[in-house]
Formats: sequence, C-alpha cells, structure tokens
Amino acid sequence: MAKTAIITGGSRGIGRALSLKLAEMGYNVVINYRSTSSKVLSDELAKEIEEKYGVKNLVVKADVSIYEECEHLVSETVKVFGDHIDCLVNNAGITNNCNFIDITKEAYTRVINTNLMSFLHMSHLVLPYMVNHSDKDHQCNIVNTSSVGGLTGVINQADYCAAKSGVIGLSRALALEFASRGVRVNTIAPGMIMTDMLRGVNQDELRALAATIPEGYIGDVSDIASALEYILKATYLTGQVISPNGGFVLQ
Ligand code: NAP
Repeated sequence: MAKTAIITGGSRGIGRALSLKLAEMGYNVVINYRSTSSKVLSDELAKEIEEKYGVKNLVVKADVSIYEECEHLVSETVKVFGDHIDCLVNNAGITNNCNFIDITKEAYTRVINTNLMSFLHMSHLVLPYMVNHSDKDHQCNIVNTSSVGGLTGVINQADYCAAKSGVIGLSRALALEFASRGVRVNTIAPGMIMTDMLRGVNQDELRALAATIPEGYIGDVSDIASALEYILKATYLTGQVISPNGGFVLQ
C-alpha cells in the first residue's frame, strides 16, 4: 500500500527538495504552503512529482503556526489518503535577524509559533494516525527541521535559536515516548543552505561566514534531502540529531 507523508512549507527551498525526495521514495506527498505566492509553486511541484515519480499528491494551504489550520491540513490529508499517515516532516520556518532590544513581542512570538509551536501542533494531530497502524515492521517517522542555531547560539537570532533548540528537545521526548509504538522521531539541523532564507541576508557578511565553514562552501538543498533519505531508511535510528553543516558546528 502507498505510504503518505505530510510536509509543512513544502513548496520551496529545503521543503521543495524534501517533497521531491519523499516522492522519489514512494510516498504520496501532501505539500503544505502558506503564502499566496507559493500556491503556484506548490501546484507546479505537485505536477512535477506526479509526472516524475507517479505518486499521488495533495496541495493544502495552511498557516501551521495556527492550531486550527493544522487541523484543516491533517483532516484534508485523511479525507484524501485515509487514516494512515506514515511520515510527517516539520519543515516550515522563518527568521527575524534582529537584536534582542529592538525586537518586538509580536515578531518573536511569530518566530516561536512558526518554528516551534507548529511542530507541536502537527505532531499532536498526526501521531494518532501513526500509532493506530505502526509497529516494529511498519514504522512511521517524524522528521523535524532544526538548525545549527539550535545547537549553538547565533547573534541577533535569540528567538530562532530558542525555537530550534526547543525542536531538538521536542524530538527527543517524542522519540522516547513513541519508540515502543513504532514511531521514530529524528531531527535534521542544517548548517548554511542556499535558499531564500539565506538570499535575504547581507551577502558580504554571508561570504565572510561561508569562508569559515571547514568544507569551504554553503550547502545545497540536496544535502538536506540526503539526510532525510538516510533517516527514513535507518530503522534503528531515533531521537537523534543529524547536522549536515560542512563541519561548521561539531556536536
Ligand atoms: P525558505 O526558503 O525561506 O522557506 C520557508 C518555508 O517555510 C516556505 O515553504 C514557507 O511557505 C514555509 N512557511 C513559513 N511560515 C509558514 C507557516 N506559518 N505555515 C506554513 N508554511 C510556512 O527557508 P528554507 O531555508 O527552505 O528553510 C526550511 C527550514 O530549514 C526552516 O525550518 C529553516 O529554519 C531551516 N533551516 C534553514 C537553513 C538555511 O540555511 N537555509 C539553515 C538551518 C535551518 P510559504 O512560501 O508559503 O510562506
């Protein structure tokens, strides 16, 4: 039977590469997006996935920082693909890049709600559809996107680092709670990966930072897709953090 995966923020950047990887691995993919501008990207990606990999997919608009919109995302998934959800990739994320004196309460709340609360909401809503059919021979997976910022600190990103550290704690706790029920929970903590998120920062500062990466270059979205593939295939792996970062941060 075909497997089903939901990916939040699946239309562009790292999310797009992960959507394609899930399809390549035979999952029917539920591609979530939030911005109107990403609707076209999502539809194009859905078409590409179907043509290339022959799996089914579904595009669902939802702001995953809001619990009720996560409920909509999950109920649409169940309506189309049934009540077995095999994989959840929590990927949606935003940054602020602001010093902690000037940042507003609204801005840091938005970062926490998007980068951490959405992971709790989605896990809370999806896990009932995983534990009802998983066991040792049929595992389900939650894969959460953290960041090297969740392993160390980053100046002007206190809110982002707090959320990304929280993601690691959440993943570890869920991994322990659900290991005996056939659900693995792991974290990917990317280093610097070239997407819109990095294109938005000062490019001179970025070049200087890139020069400090031991491997000497900024990573590609395919590096994160490879980590996802590894995690999904590594059946004895749970509660772990995999950090593709070119040696930038060592754990
Ligand atoms: P990106 O290109 O800016 O894409 C962000 C994605 O998140 C978009 O698909 C966006 O959807 C989605 N999103 C944001 N807020 C959302 C919300 N409230 N509801 C639903 N979707 C939402 O960023 P990226 O670099 O691919 O980042 C993907 C993940 O990797 C993030 O969690 C990020 O923190 C993490 N990460 C990235 C890097 C890096 O260097 N790029 C490093 C470490 C960790 P819309 O287009 O619909 O808004």
